[in-house]
Amino acid sequence: MFKSKEEFIQEFELRIAEMYGRSIEQSHHTEKYMALGEMVREYASLNWKASKEKVAKEEDKQMFYFSMEFLIGRLLTNNLMNLGIYNIVKEGLDELGIDINELEDLESDAGLGNGGLGRLAACFLDSLASLRLPGNGNCIRYQYGLFRQKIDRDGNQVEVPDQWLKLGNVWEVRKPKHAVDIKFGGHVNVSQDAQGHFVFDHVDAEHITAVPYDMPIVGRGTNETNTLRLWSAEASDIIPSNKDFRKYLAEVQEICLNVYPDDSTPEGKILRLKQQYFFVCAGLNAIVRAHLRVYPNLDNLADKVAIQLNDTHPVLAIPELMRILMDEHHYEWMDAWNIVVKVMAYTNHTILQEALEKWPVDYVRQLLPRIYMIIEEINSRFQSKVGREYPGDNDMAYRVAIIRDNQVHMANLAVIGSHSINGVAQIHSEIIKKDLFKDFVKIYPERFNNKTNGITQRRWLYYSNPQLTKLIEDTIGNKFLDNFDHIEDLMKHVDDVKLQQDFLNVKQERKEILAKVILDKTGIEVNPNTIFDVQAKRLHAYKRQLLNALHIIYQYQRLKSDPSYTIEPRTYIFAAKAAPAYVFAKKVIKLINKLSSVINNDPAVNDKLKVVFIPNYSVSIAEVLMNAADVSEQISTAGKEASGTGNMKFMMNGAITLGTLDGANVEIDELVGRENDVIFGLTVDEVTAIKPTYQAREYYEKDMRIKNAIDSLIDGTWIDNKEEFRIIYDELLYRNDEYLLLADFDAYVKAQEKIEEKYRNRSEWAKSCLINIAKSNYFSSDRTIKQYAEDIWHIHSVKI
Ligand SMILES: *Cc1c(COP(=O)(O)O)cnc(C)c1O
Repeated sequence: MFKSKEEFIQEFELRIAEMYGRSIEQSHHTEKYMALGEMVREYASLNWKASKEKVAKEEDKQMFYFSMEFLIGRLLTNNLMNLGIYNIVKEGLDELGIDINELEDLESDAGLGNGGLGRLAACFLDSLASLRLPGNGNCIRYQYGLFRQKIDRDGNQVEVPDQWLKLGNVWEVRKPKHAVDIKFGGHVNVSQDAQGHFVFDHVDAEHITAVPYDMPIVGRGTNETNTLRLWSAEASDIIPSNKDFRKYLAEVQEICLNVYPDDSTPEGKILRLKQQYFFVCAGLNAIVRAHLRVYPNLDNLADKVAIQLNDTHPVLAIPELMRILMDEHHYEWMDAWNIVVKVMAYTNHTILQEALEKWPVDYVRQLLPRIYMIIEEINSRFQSKVGREYPGDNDMAYRVAIIRDNQVHMANLAVIGSHSINGVAQIHSEIIKKDLFKDFVKIYPERFNNKTNGITQRRWLYYSNPQLTKLIEDTIGNKFLDNFDHIEDLMKHVDDVKLQQDFLNVKQERKEILAKVILDKTGIEVNPNTIFDVQAKRLHAYKRQLLNALHIIYQYQRLKSDPSYTIEPRTYIFAAKAAPAYVFAKKVIKLINKLSSVINNDPAVNDKLKVVFIPNYSVSIAEVLMNAADVSEQISTAGKEASGTGNMKFMMNGAITLGTLDGANVEIDELVGRENDVIFGLTVDEVTAIKPTYQAREYYEKDMRIKNAIDSLIDGTWIDNKEEFRIIYDELLYRNDEYLLLADFDAYVKAQEKIEEKYRNRSEWAKSCLINIAKSNYFSSDRTIKQYAEDIWHIHSVKI
């Protein structure tokens, strides 16, 4: 493999000739991209086989991260950087007259997820490999990623299919020999064999073949290479006899067609259930097979395999592993159950009622008859246990039931079948113990723990913000690059006036880069000398983009009506996708776009106030957006955001958090101190206290700022059709403002004023930003993964 620029050039020329029969000059740049990608994948694969053999030979324990989503983004830059060959390749390409950035831009984002939960999984893979920990991903090879968002001329979100595989995926390797047979439907015949054991015969099922595509996951500065395994559904050799073949094929293809564009309510229920069982069953069967290639039986499975269930989407792994152990390997119930509970660990990501997965009993029974029998048995054994330990407490027995009211409650199954249950930020872990899982805490107190989320500093700082990385390196040396805890060395320099100015210059450069992207994507010209105030995250009522919008309306109205009112010029930047069926969220996107067109085109204010909506929020957009922000908007209703990870990306790049005491904001605040962020609004306890008597209309009636802002929604200020934003108006006034925007409005206005005041003192501002950067090591996913590895998985670094 190439070790120098010259060797790279030679190999690259040869590769293009082999693949396309052309010279470099004759080749199209997609061909150059493909050739380069294949070379890099092969480079990464050198250590891949060695890593797998090493893990097998040393009989190391491995972890498998089961997640329905991996929001990976692009891999070319990341892999070149992690492999330490970026500069060789860049210089080689330069010499050939090729701009590496142009090739980087040809890669499609692997958008196999919705948002935070999927991005967490991707950050975890990067940390696992970089820490040389044997940990692999297991997911679905979706034909289409999360939809691409366009904004039409009227400001509406339009969803376009995300054809990320159009050029193929250069990182994957198809592994047909590891295919797994999956059964759906049919029914189960129960009989007894000669020894009197029950035999469960699953007959008349429809068969589907799951074929794995493996992607190498390379860490930084190590040759440990892990695997992300994506499963694809294909027609089985066992063709259903009672169904038209084309119908069968269409149904098979549908399984991996796309990511569910809704991270809060399970829609298209049967298909989603099918997807869940599909990748869980395939992943588990492959793990068991691999185990049996090394060990004689599954007795020691829990010593060699840990499985982390990312939310409830993969929780069918619990009954499926029971099925494999009992039906295929003849374990008794209790022996099988002990193994399953030791293998499985569950991460909870939400307490929003509507986001807790429940499946109608009929669906599970029809689609997965044997799995349903096992769930019933788990439920009935657990009910007996609760009956014994809490005799007479029928309410508790009801609350902890897996099957109740004709539905299968996946979170309860997850808790009962896992030895570890974690929340994703301190406050969230406390809330699930006090609230959602309070009954289970009595039964299994030792199972509950916290693992505050993190992000990989490699993607989110080193590679996406080389300017800031260089400044840090020039200030404290390069030790932080391999051990991010050294970023705290920056604390010694935060009062250095020269460093403060250098930081502001880097921020300015990033803002100019973002301004170009904004011009290119929206046609809007923004001024990089204004405050860049950014709210980028999925659009959801609890995240309260609408509160941000109401504040903008207030500032606009006051600028127009009160000549004495002055503000620090500001650019409000939004990026957010809404679930296609989420009507309210889509209206908020439209409102933001209307604010943008009215305000940006009003010469009375547009040198002080601008509003931008960047379409198609994705990992690649986030990579240019987070690091250009001055202000990070993290304004969810307290108690609703489990952790947030966007907040961490902003902080690590030197933005000031403007936030409520929710999710990981609480820990950011503890680390940086109240002088270095701006915290406002109701706390979790205050939310709980105010809720029962809350009257949104009282705030509307007594606060003219609120009244004027809300009235503008239906008086034609923003759009001719006065009914357009009626549902937003009604949500606040007639549905009593579920997320307490009006209760927090005054505090939010004051917090925004505090931001301005802080921003005016440039030196103090820069110092605060530097303190945020210096304290961001806590939010590295390296820290998070070390804690999972030590406390839950019991896996260790491998050396090759
Ligand atoms: C980090 C990230 C998220 C999560 O953002 P939150 O503010 O934590 O909700 C969502 N989408 C993308 C593309 C991200 O990079």
